[in-house]
Amino acid sequence: MKAEIISIGSELTSGQNLDTNAQWLSQRLAEIGIVVGWHTTVADDFEANLDVFQTATRRAALVLATGGLGPTQDDLTREVLARMAGVELVLHADSLARIQEMFTSRRRVMPERNSVQALFPAGAEPIPNPRGTAPGIWMKHGASLVAAMPGVPSEMFAMYRDSVQPRLLAAGLGGAVQIQRKINCFGAGESAVEAKLLDLTRRGHVPEVGITVSDAVISLRILARAATPAEAQAQIAPVEATIRERLGEWVFGVEQEELEHAVAQHLEKEHLTLATAEGVTGGLIARLLTSIPGASGWYKGGVVAYQTDAKVQHLAVPHALIHEHGLFSAPVAEAMATACRIRFGADLGVSSVGIAGPGGGSTDRPVGLVWVGLSWDGGARTQTFSWIGTRKEVQSRAARLALNLVRLYKP
Ligand code: AMP
Ligand code: MG
Repeated sequence: MKAEIISIGSELTSGQNLDTNAQWLSQRLAEIGIVVGWHTTVADDFEANLDVFQTATRRAALVLATGGLGPTQDDLTREVLARMAGVELVLHADSLARIQEMFTSRRRVMPERNSVQALFPAGAEPIPNPRGTAPGIWMKHGASLVAAMPGVPSEMFAMYRDSVQPRLLAAGLGGAVQIQRKINCFGAGESAVEAKLLDLTRRGHVPEVGITVSDAVISLRILARAATPAEAQAQIAPVEATIRERLGEWVFGVEQEELEHAVAQHLEKEHLTLATAEGVTGGLIARLLTSIPGASGWYKGGVVAYQTDAKVQHLAVPHALIHEHGLFSAPVAEAMATACRIRFGADLGVSSVGIAGPGGGSTDRPVGLVWVGLSWDGGARTQTFSWIGTRKEVQSRAARLALNLVRLYKP
């Protein structure tokens, strides 16, 4: 049994607004074990809507639609549902009274046009709307259950929670639970990570394991479906243990944890302080670090030394070093990391240099090439990487590469 979500509105198909309702509803359905097979977005056009609803009710056991229930001419959902069912629209007196009451309670006169919101396809049931004027529509068509809800997210959320979800459970849909566990990794590419997990990521594996990548951070999602949360957790636990064992120090966190959280935990635990010297990342490393509450406990401060002169003047990077190795090099990254560590009196210094692009690259120093450095009392470590990406991507990946050096530092 699969569900389809239909998002109605020309503001969505034109690209003006992003369809967030489908995302939210899919997450809620997943929580009660209903699998969504389709997201369909359709403009405010009668024929297109009719076609979309006919298709959806042929293939999906549950159809949840949002939008098109307003009082204006472009709000077509009620008429479309009536046409699909081959029935008339009939006035629901209680709904009309409630809509009138909404206006009266705000000392306003109900515009005549709002009365259309009390019309329902014959045989359909209204779904109360605690947050707005438009009731939703609940009906059966063929073998499908259909719920049409308002497009305004806050109204839709309340209607789904108060009325739609209870009806789905009462109808015997769902009932199972779906639990996700996200494991976040850094330090290898997507295919290298997957190569260690091929037996887990294959289709049909229970629980399902998927891989996604964002800003060079690889996330593994373990998705378990079972009758109870405890059963789902029991599916997840051994798979998570296997993943952690095989990926080792690539794993830095779970769920919403980012590298900067891992860095913060590491520095707090080891009682270490940190300073930054940034070129290519332009302050992004500092920004990520200071996004963590309590960063003042371990982050001393940093400099953005962007031009070559600034690196020489403010971080005492020797001209000769730059001349000999080039600006985008391990020795320069190391010199910057050491300089900031000493100047800020920190235990660790971390740095970045590189070419964010789109211009400024050459054959041996291409756009996307970065060096990051980590310095501590008694040693230093550098790392390089070359990404193909936009300026923004190169900068955010370089910042993460630098944070990762800090995370992996072993005192
Ligand atoms: P409607 O119920 O079609 O009159 O939609 C009212 C408003 O809700 C629209 O102008 C949008 O701002 C918002 N909205 C409608 N559909 C969606 C959706 N799928 N995701 C997010 N916002 C939406
Ligand atoms: Mg609309």
